[in-house]
Amino acid sequence: MRYRNAQFNCYQGRFAPSPTGPLHYGSLVTALASYLQARVNGGQWLLRIEDIDPERQAKGATFDILKTLHDYGFEWDKPPIFQSRQHHLHKHIVDQLIQRNLAYACACSRKDLATRSTTGSMGTIYPGTCSKKHINKENHTVRVRTNNTPITFIDRLYGLQSCHLQDESGDYVIYRADDLPSYILAVSIDDLFENYTEVVRGADLLAITPRQIYLSLLLKKKPPHFFHVPIITDDSGNKLSKQTYAPPLLKHHARQNLYFALQDLGQEPPRYLLSSPLASLWEWAFKHWNTTLIPPLSKISFNH
Ligand code: GLU
Repeated sequence: MRYRNAQFNCYQGRFAPSPTGPLHYGSLVTALASYLQARVNGGQWLLRIEDIDPERQAKGATFDILKTLHDYGFEWDKPPIFQSRQHHLHKHIVDQLIQRNLAYACACSRKDLATRSTTGSMGTIYPGTCSKKHINKENHTVRVRTNNTPITFIDRLYGLQSCHLQDESGDYVIYRADDLPSYILAVSIDDLFENYTEVVRGADLLAITPRQIYLSLLLKKKPPHFFHVPIITDDSGNKLSKQTYAPPLLKHHARQNLYFALQDLGQEPPRYLLSSPLASLWEWAFKHWNTTLIPPLSKISFNH
């Protein structure tokens, strides 16, 4: 079922889980927001499995994630995209950035970084130790050169954001010494090349967005719009995640979980939906999705 409003010509959205374990309630809230936003804008909704880091993957997690999404009533418009299959593209772009002198190999050890770096709002600030050296990239990390031209964007929920990358992050890693792209590089390239118009994801990723936009600018491509939604936390205020053992979503809790996810996103689903067929809940959600009701909090505690 498609509902349309006129904000985007050809909306394309995505949900991009990492297959580190089964889906939990926090991921459901993000998946729901990105799905409703795509459908209500008459657009396509794709799945990208972010499986670039073999060490972080759990066996069977991709299958589990797809099954849970299906059981909960999500429908994706194309076969899922596997990020690991874009490895050549990621590597090729890093090589191009090095050739254009926009990136360089870095030989700093963890100890060097710990002693020389300072810490800012976005984590460690790289002091640029290797930026003028000519190190071969084999077995070394690669960093992109930053500058202080402000990176400014408007997040649909959190509003105007601005960042001076050189001061606040320093040159950041885009390729790892173990021949894998960094998370920021992979997500940036894939979001650009898969042509998403808007990225809806958890607010924990708001802080990396300027780095993602900066890479888009270097690649001379228009970045997607960004819409970060609050993350769900446990009793101790930590993000619900596979690392903090958030319980997996059960099929027979689909209706309740979706109902509470709508509520956590500020929507006001009527109580009768808790005992109606799942299809009625989806019908209601498509008709009433209203992004202006989402609370502009960065975190919401999980209390049901
Ligand atoms: N793979 C990330 C996660 O599972 C989400 C990345 C994104 O949506 O940009 O938290």
